[in-house]
Amino acid sequence: MATEENLLEINNLEVGFRFGDEYHNAVDDVSITLKKNEILAIVGESGSGKSTLATAIIGLHDPLNTKVKGEILYKGLDLTKLNEKLYNRIRGNDIGMIFQDPLGSLNPVMTVGKQIEESLIYHTDLKENARQEEVLKLLDQVGIVNPQRTAKQYPHELSGGMRQRVVIAIALANKPPIIIADEPTTALDVTIQAQILDLMNDIQDETNSGIILITHDLGVVAETADRVAVMYAGQIVEEAPVDILFTDPKHPYTRSLLNSIPQELEGEEVAELHVIQGTVPSLQALPRTGDRFKNRIPWMPDEVFDEDPQLAEIAPGHKVRGNSWKHFYFEGEEEK
Ligand code: ADP
Ligand code: MG
Repeated sequence: MATEENLLEINNLEVGFRFGDEYHNAVDDVSITLKKNEILAIVGESGSGKSTLATAIIGLHDPLNTKVKGEILYKGLDLTKLNEKLYNRIRGNDIGMIFQDPLGSLNPVMTVGKQIEESLIYHTDLKENARQEEVLKLLDQVGIVNPQRTAKQYPHELSGGMRQRVVIAIALANKPPIIIADEPTTALDVTIQAQILDLMNDIQDETNSGIILITHDLGVVAETADRVAVMYAGQIVEEAPVDILFTDPKHPYTRSLLNSIPQELEGEEVAELHVIQGTVPSLQALPRTGDRFKNRIPWMPDEVFDEDPQLAEIAPGHKVRGNSWKHFYFEGEEEK
């Protein structure tokens, strides 16, 4: 059951996409909770299922070609079973969403002030004057220097960083307890990225909301997150408080990701040992049973991947998906 502390509780979630008459899971057995007041980062290479997970939480998958199993518990409701009408109220009111591409999530022919106001019209009963005041307040809150002017502008008149601030203002308009940000800084240059991340931190402080921050960038995680879940091929392979993930990563995939941050390289030997080459396989190419890591660690014999690895808690709050070969691998490696 979701407790007071747990804003969102996801249990054994599977999201399968239809290919002909078969379904292949892009999210496979994901269990995770989001607590009040925390920024939970979900990190993984492109194609690891992060956006599919986010889309399942806000209920935007096409039901004809998608099969969702498991539970997404929020305030005693299982969102996977919600009808569209209720879901529409949850989106916006309870869950704010920030996408990677701000231009794609804004209406090109409506001023940004109007767009923020729309959200307030839909989800609050504020009168017109109060709404307009609220629009300016929100623009100010996301760090827009001249809210009066920006409110009257169209998306194409703004820079990428300004647009993403507007998208964040829209997501915040109804003070949702949960915010999901899917690669919110990926399309932005580095300086603007840092500003947007600071903003996410400030918002979190002010609103006490729980934020799910999706990224492929561990630098972003280090700067922002409280807790991290590492995803590979639709599964969480490791979950830990952010400092533990960076100082004591257990899963080879996590180590490989850490080593792909240039400044984290500590020596050639370490880098060679841990960098896992290749890319996430397509859904149809993933092994149907056994370890989804098969093929990513070529020097390991095939049999070690037969077992279905389970996520196990190895220390408070630190979970790793692994089986016997991985323990062997970790232990062996320490002695080298
Ligand atoms: P990420 O956000 O981590 O980059 P995605 O969730 O976008 O990953 O994709 C995970 C996997 O699911 C990929 O193999 C992708 O090609 C596949 N996928 C995503 N959306 C669909 C879809 N609507 N239909 C079929 N396959 C999809
Ligand atoms: Mg994505």
